[in-house]
Amino acid sequence: MSEAQWTAHEAVQRLTSGDIGSVELIDALITRIESEDERVNAYVHLDADAARAQAQDVDERRQRGDTLGPLAGVPIAIKDVMCVRGGRTTCGSRILADYVAPYDATAVAKLRAADAVLLGKTNMDEFAMGSSNENSHFGPARNPRDLDRVPGGSSGGSAAAVAADTAIAALGSDTGGSVRQPAGYCGIVGLKPTYGRVSRYGLVAFASSLDQIGPLTKDVEDAALLLGVISGHDASDATSADVEVPDYCQKLRAGVEGLTIGLPEQFFGEGLDAETAAAIEATASRLESAGAKLQNVSLPVAGHAEYCIGAYYVVATAEASANLSRYDGVRFGYRSGEASDLQQMYHQSRSEGFGDEVKRRIMLGTYVLSAGYYDAYYLKAQKVRTLIREDFSRAFTDCDLLLGPVSPTTAFCLGDKIDDPLQMYLNDIYTVTANLAGLPGVSVPVATAQNGLPIGAQLLAPAFAEETLLRAAHHIEQTA
Ligand code: GLN
Repeated sequence: MSEAQWTAHEAVQRLTSGDIGSVELIDALITRIESEDERVNAYVHLDADAARAQAQDVDERRQRGDTLGPLAGVPIAIKDVMCVRGGRTTCGSRILADYVAPYDATAVAKLRAADAVLLGKTNMDEFAMGSSNENSHFGPARNPRDLDRVPGGSSGGSAAAVAADTAIAALGSDTGGSVRQPAGYCGIVGLKPTYGRVSRYGLVAFASSLDQIGPLTKDVEDAALLLGVISGHDASDATSADVEVPDYCQKLRAGVEGLTIGLPEQFFGEGLDAETAAAIEATASRLESAGAKLQNVSLPVAGHAEYCIGAYYVVATAEASANLSRYDGVRFGYRSGEASDLQQMYHQSRSEGFGDEVKRRIMLGTYVLSAGYYDAYYLKAQKVRTLIREDFSRAFTDCDLLLGPVSPTTAFCLGDKIDDPLQMYLNDIYTVTANLAGLPGVSVPVATAQNGLPIGAQLLAPAFAEETLLRAAHHIEQTA
């Protein structure tokens, strides 16, 4: 097995034992990126010299016998929605194509403090809006399992890089499924933590009440390892939670005996591909044989596609329309050279700087917040959001975890849905609810479909129950 295929925990072990140096590991990844990424397009920016310099520094400190962080020398890719000091942070958009971040996002700073090596910035749907990575100003990333297929989105580049072995692990962001769905499509693990678990400081905002940073990794142990590094309270993010960070790796192997796992009946209804349904059911049976108790549960609102997709696309676009008002050609990014007065400068900069999907969402979000429509749409969506939360609270009085699909089908072909936004939105049916309720969720590969593509299962847990989530995910992974 080549170095590029290692998991993070394996790389840590090899680096610690002296089998390999970090510079050597970085070079192996850079060589692989050079041979693979032209086809996959997972990276928008690679700073090989900076990565080598960081690796060199880790190697030197290791040689001196210094105490090193838990990810010392491990190359990690970062979705281009997180600020990395001194490098470009484009959000997959023309409007930020030349924006250089003056500071590190907290999650990135925590990776640095853990002595990880920052490998490069990954491709994504513009401002994290999309489910296929086709909305990127830098061209779509492709699914390494089948290059005619999408890798999912919006963290498509991060998922594709991990699946193509061009990153050992990566960070993504999940506003409505953008870590879990691409992980599912690419056959890797994707974890969306509880809202507030990971600081959003330095994460370019899409929908602030839904956004959360999470790891995309080759296995569950890596997800636990990275989560432990990036979690924790941060005074720079008022919504970050002051909740102790456990050692997420400690109970990974505790098994599932005694856990009650709920199967929401609405997650197995119309629209779910039969092969995916069978793979999830088989996963449930394996959990049962290992001592978990299965229980049918009902999520009348949270399992109802129309309510969830409707509420999500109202709340997310409303918040996006406010968050994206800062890109005005004055303070950030691209400014049109065409304009003759201020009003026209705003108009032209935004018209030329944003892509179609982002414009669609800004218009939708502005509409649902405008006088006369606010009560009918925005306020209504907030009420639905409360009902979704209540659905989950009820389910979690009886169950430790919920199990279901990540997406209705395996990865679709490039071009299949891009001209039909509603079809694209419906693809998020199983993922948006965790964000609306602020709950943690993980996507784990459980089977391979007849078309050769991976099928993922999704586990959901109560807020801050990531330990239980990871423990069950680990069991699923080991028995898949
Ligand atoms: N696909 C969803 C959307 O387009 C989710 C995106 C995300 O989680 N960033 O909004």
